[in-house]
Formats: sequence, structure tokens, C-alpha cells
Amino acid sequence: MSSSTQSKPIVTRIAPSPTGDPHVGTAYMSLFDYVFAKQQGGSFILRVEDTDQKRYNPESEERVLDALEWLGLSPDESPKVGGPNAPYRQTERKETYQKYADELLNAGKAYRAFETAEELDAIRTDLQRRGLGQGYDGRGRNLGQEESDKRAAAGEPFVIRLITPDEGETVVNDALRGEVKIPNTEVTDAVIMKSDGLPTYHLAVVVDDHLMGVTHAVRGEEWISTAPIHVLLYEAFSWEEPVWVHMPLLRNAEGKKLSKRKDDVSLDSYKSQGFLPEALLNYLGTMGWSMPDGREFFSVQDMIDNFTFKRISLGGPVFDAKRLRFYNAHYMREALPLETLAERAKPFFKAAGYSLDDEDYLLDVIDVLLPRAETLQDLAEQSAYFFSGNFEYTEDAKRRLEGGQKYLQDLEREFSRLDFFDFDDVDDTIRDYVQSQSVKMGEVMQPLRAAFTGTTQAPGVTDLAVILGKQKVLERIGRALDFLQGGLPDDNPQAKKEAEEKEKAKEAKEKQAKAKVTKHKKEAV
Ligand code: GLU
Repeated sequence: MSSSTQSKPIVTRIAPSPTGDPHVGTAYMSLFDYVFAKQQGGSFILRVEDTDQKRYNPESEERVLDALEWLGLSPDESPKVGGPNAPYRQTERKETYQKYADELLNAGKAYRAFETAEELDAIRTDLQRRGLGQGYDGRGRNLGQEESDKRAAAGEPFVIRLITPDEGETVVNDALRGEVKIPNTEVTDAVIMKSDGLPTYHLAVVVDDHLMGVTHAVRGEEWISTAPIHVLLYEAFSWEEPVWVHMPLLRNAEGKKLSKRKDDVSLDSYKSQGFLPEALLNYLGTMGWSMPDGREFFSVQDMIDNFTFKRISLGGPVFDAKRLRFYNAHYMREALPLETLAERAKPFFKAAGYSLDDEDYLLDVIDVLLPRAETLQDLAEQSAYFFSGNFEYTEDAKRRLEGGQKYLQDLEREFSRLDFFDFDDVDDTIRDYVQSQSVKMGEVMQPLRAAFTGTTQAPGVTDLAVILGKQKVLERIGRALDFLQGGLPDDNPQAKKEAEEKEKAKEAKEKQAKAKVTKHKKEAV
């Protein structure tokens, strides 16, 4: 890292283009910006790169800011909180860019180019045909000053292009890669001001980073190919370059660049699925970076305490939503206090329509579901039977109920006799009963679980019973027995029909048996 930046206050920035959903890559860069700035006692700026007006979406800016706030990576300066470098939206800084573009124009370091879209297409096609991969051949450089001024004065639309060297190479001094040398034959005279009077990304990023005192430009690897233009702009202005840090690109499980279409890249989506910011940040922190002791779980503060860019490795880190679930489960089960988790889970329970009146009940429910839930949304989804006894039985549950009718009847009686309904009482009752019947534990537990929850995939039966409480336990056993005796009134009609048929068949059998007995009796007489 260059020593000249050491004395200046450290400033990092994230410069999202507000065009769609807040992207996981924005959180990734922001995390490293934030950690480094905090470690160095510096500041972290959010600047909105909204110069591409066709793609601009004002809602998206709000969502990026909200997402960063949710993650706890709130910028020190932004359009929302303001700051000494305001304004933070590039469209509000238009005059500034114009001034600097004019400066380059007047110094003969940039020129007006008047080609129309069709002419540019023709140039591009011609260059491609000749195997010269650039988008523009620099012909505008040859226009005399007088003619350029005249055409501009006549109102002809033009762009401003930077004069880039034709020979030699431009060196991007990247903190992670060292010197990246790019032959100047590959560097086009980039457009820095568009014909609509707005700057291109290249000019805006350089002017803003300079004026905002950015010392470290941390951004994705995809920007390394355009970095020479930025380096050349710094040279043209005789400004000191920031330290360039091109972070490795996040890849999906197949090793390809994360794609908006194929992968879940939206921070809002992770939030609404019930991922915890702590887990997402920890996981993002492992993307190309590691703690000196190699530990898997660490907080943002741990990162701040141990951060150095030297520990970044460039092999494309894989961002796999499945792995994120693993991190999330860890934070839910082991890192956050139950009360905090409950607070975070409440909106999900609310959205599912469950009553949150009984705080202790909610804590018990969350506690018992934790071993099976990996997200807050899982918790809410899996807890339906705690909030309503009016559920359907899964096919598996129905089979279990059928095989356990006697146990249900017996335990209904046993439970109703209990004065206390705490864990030990319930547990002893079930165990004693299982022993008295000389059957396997599961034979009794599964019908109970099915009766309590409608499924066979649920937590421990005693836990369930104690959380539900005696009254609900008895109600649910009663409901299950009703179901077995002919289906519930509004239960699945098919099941009801089947049960009725069974009942009829049973009656017929009994009649037959009776008839037989009478026959025997008669015969005996
Ligand atoms: N606006 C660019 C983006 O959307 C910023 C790139 C940079 O950080 O220089 O990623």
C-alpha cells in the first residue's frame, strides 16, 4: 500500500447504481469498505451513481440504503444522512463534472467527438473486421479546434473523449495483484461526457473519488479492465490515485459469476427469507478472506480487529445459498440470545397471522423448533400447529393415528388425571405407559406427535405436550380420535368417505359375526 496515503484519513466508498434489487455484491464490497474504514478510524461513504438515467430507479436507492442499514453497514456519509461531501447523487453534481471535463478540454487532454450513433457503429464494425478490438478509432482528435468550436456552437451534439496514449502500457497498481499492465492499444479514447451533458461513469468515479478524499477504491474485479482509463484520468488531472483494491468476483455453486437471472442475489430476498444479518455478513466475510486463526464463525468486530487486505485470496469465492443456511442456522442456534432471536422472528410470525400476545409461549415455540429451523421463515412455517389446532393430517400422520388409536385413548385418560403438566410428569406418564404396553417408544410417540401437530416431523413429544399445555393436548387427542371415528366434519371428504366405508364394513362384519354366533347357538340348542 502506498505510504503517501497513510497520513490522510482513510476513506472508502461504495458507489451503487440504483437500478434494481440491492445486490449481494454491494453488501460484499460494503463489508470490506466498512471494516477497513472502521479499523483505520476513517469513514465509509455511499455515493449514488445515477448518471445512467435510462436505468435509474429512485426506489432502488432507498432499498440499497435500507439493506445496508439492516446489515449494520450504515455509511458515515450518504444521500440520506448527508455529510461534508454532499451531494451524494451524481446527477446532483452535474456542474462539477462539466467543470472538470472543460478543464481537460482546455488543456488539450480531451476532445469533442461529433460522430453519430450510425457512424460509431460503422467504426466499430470496421475495427472489429480488422481485428482491432476497440470501440473507437480516435478520429475526433484530428478535428481542428476552430471547427470543433464552430460545430459545438451550432448546437451539433457531441461527446467529450479523453486522449489516451497509443503506445506503451498503463499500469494499475492493485493492492491485491501488484502491477497490472494493460497495453495502451487496448485502451480506447473513452467518452467522459455524454451528449446529454452527464458524465460517464469513468469521469464521475474519478472526480468524485478525488473530491471526496477516497483513499481506497474497493470494488469488484470486473472493473479492472476499465481501471486504466481511471488511472489515465488521474494522470491527466495530476491527482494522486487511490489505492486500487479489486476484490474477487463472487461465483455461484457452479463456479460461474453470480447472475441476476439464475442466482438469488437480492439482499431483500435474503432478508425476507429470514436470514440474519450476522450470518450473511459472516459468510460474506469468508468470501476470499479468512481470520488469521482460520475460524469459521466471526463477527464484523472480529474482522475489524484482524483485518488486512493481505489476507485476501483471489481464487473466485463461491457464494452458495445452501452454505449461507448453514451459517444462519449457527447464528440462530448458537450465537443470538433467544430473546433477540424472538424479536427478529416476530415479523415473520405476524405475517403468518399468529398471535404474539404470549411472549413466553413464543419463546418456548422458537426454542423447541430451533434444531430444525435454518431461517426465521422456517421458524414461522414450522410453528403453524402451535398457533392453531385446526390442521390437516399428513398421510404419514394419518397412518400413525390409525395404528395408535388405543394408545391415544389410554393416554387421553392418563393425561387428564395429571394435576401438573410439566416435563417430568408428562414424560413419566408416557414412559410408564409405554412400559406397561411392552411396545416400542415410537409406536406411542408417533401417534401422539401426529395428534399434536398433524405431522410426524416435529420436535420431541414431551416438549410439544408441555408447550401446548394440558388443555390443548387433550383437545388435540380428542380431535384425532374423532378423526379416526369417521373423519372431521370439514376434513378431507375423501378421508371421510373412506372412514365411513370402513365403518360400514366393520358393522357388516360385526353383523356377520353375530349371525354366526346365533347360528352356533341355534345349533347348540
Ligand atoms: N457504479 C459502479 C457499480 O455499480 C461502481 C464501481 C466502482 O466502485 O468504481 O458497481
